[in-house]
Amino acid sequence: MNLSVVGAGHVGLVTGACFAQMGHRVICVDNDAKRIARLKRNVMPYYEPGLEALVRKHAKSGRLRFSARLVDGVRFGEVIFIAVGTPPKANGEADLTYVEGVCRDIARAMTSYRIIVEKSTVPVETGKWLRRTIAMNLKTKVPFDVASNPEFLREGTGVHDFLNPDRIVIGVESDAARKKLLQVYQPLKAPTVVTDIASAELIKHASNSFLAAKISFINAVAQVCDRVGADVEKVAEGMGLDRRIGKFFLDAGIGFGGFCLPKDIEAFIHIADKLGVDFRLLKEVARINEEQRAILVKKIEERLWNLKQKTIAVWGLSFKPHTDDMRLAPSIDVIGRLSAAGAKVRAYDPEAMGEARRCLNGTVFCSDPYRAAKGSDCLVLLTEWPQFQKVDWKKVHRMMEHPIVVDGRNFLDAAVVRRHGFEYVGMGQGRP
Ligand code: NAD
Repeated sequence: MNLSVVGAGHVGLVTGACFAQMGHRVICVDNDAKRIARLKRNVMPYYEPGLEALVRKHAKSGRLRFSARLVDGVRFGEVIFIAVGTPPKANGEADLTYVEGVCRDIARAMTSYRIIVEKSTVPVETGKWLRRTIAMNLKTKVPFDVASNPEFLREGTGVHDFLNPDRIVIGVESDAARKKLLQVYQPLKAPTVVTDIASAELIKHASNSFLAAKISFINAVAQVCDRVGADVEKVAEGMGLDRRIGKFFLDAGIGFGGFCLPKDIEAFIHIADKLGVDFRLLKEVARINEEQRAILVKKIEERLWNLKQKTIAVWGLSFKPHTDDMRLAPSIDVIGRLSAAGAKVRAYDPEAMGEARRCLNGTVFCSDPYRAAKGSDCLVLLTEWPQFQKVDWKKVHRMMEHPIVVDGRNFLDAAVVRRHGFEYVGMGQGRP
């Protein structure tokens, strides 16, 4: 099929490349002309494992093309996926102006039947607005369908997730749109939920909120563990073996970040409020998540007394491993708190240093984990990059002023770290 994807970001570019891999012909459109020019030279706009290889392969096969002109996308694709950003406004509400702008411009350029699909994460009832906006802006009277097809990929494993989804969700209001979208995804042979548009929109917000709730739940349990000397890792293991609970998203630590969970729960709280539902459970999920960062900083303070003039080494800056995405990363909050208390921060991240420089002022960026540890009073792990498990702890010990490790992700092998003479502090491991 001929497909168009508008927005060549973390979701749009992966979607376009994977559609090409599935055998479709795809055009990816973005209004960032520099990004498109670089993509035409196979230069990726961000780090995502496996993406560059796929883009190169299908640029060569001719199944994946790029354009900075929306009209090219409107002419080409019988189905047009909107994958532009839906950032949070100051009050938590999703900012839908990019989605609105794109669908208005699509309508103005449409000359024959098209299916316009929300791929971006949007609040329930956005489909209704899409339909109205398109109808209002058509230049000629052409038929169209609106649909919802939320994306569940995770950054860092985006390509794999897209091609091997747990489920595909399709929200439609016509038989023609249902048939076309099932045809788009037919090569994946994944379980598919076909429903109305509002339900599809809600599946995405409800899923992300539920995952966030699982994380905040185990973090609240971790706070209790710290007080009674219990080990949250064991508690999570014991809970997770119950198939009704499951072991995923039960990792205690400094909480969730990134451009999905935090913004999506805020958007869900906001739309629920607007519809007259006070979703207090989700407000508490967000509050616990914030609290985790304060708890981590308190753990450092409890070891160093005053933070003023202390040097803190930070390992890991991206909101999760295998990405360079710094959007709403917990490291920004934690480093902000450390700096506000007068500490000097020396940081290292395997991929996110470029992005981090843009949002972390006053931090010294180091070219490897050992240099970051040099002269530090405490080392803090914020992102669970696998290479941090393989460091030479003897060398780290030599570099540091005081051998204290605070593991914000319970990721390091505590026994190994302690064996090398460090004081090791985890989250919810019986040591406040
Ligand atoms: P992103 O910021 O990485 O990408 C958005 C892209 O849209 C950018 O390249 C931007 O230049 C482009 N754009 C903006 N306005 C445009 C316009 N008028 N015309 C053409 N292009 C335009 O954002 P993202 O992380 O890919 O997220 C996109 C959506 O997908 C959001 O709603 C997000 O919540 C959702 N989502 C994200 C993830 C994720 O892991 N990042 C996962 C699932 C869903």
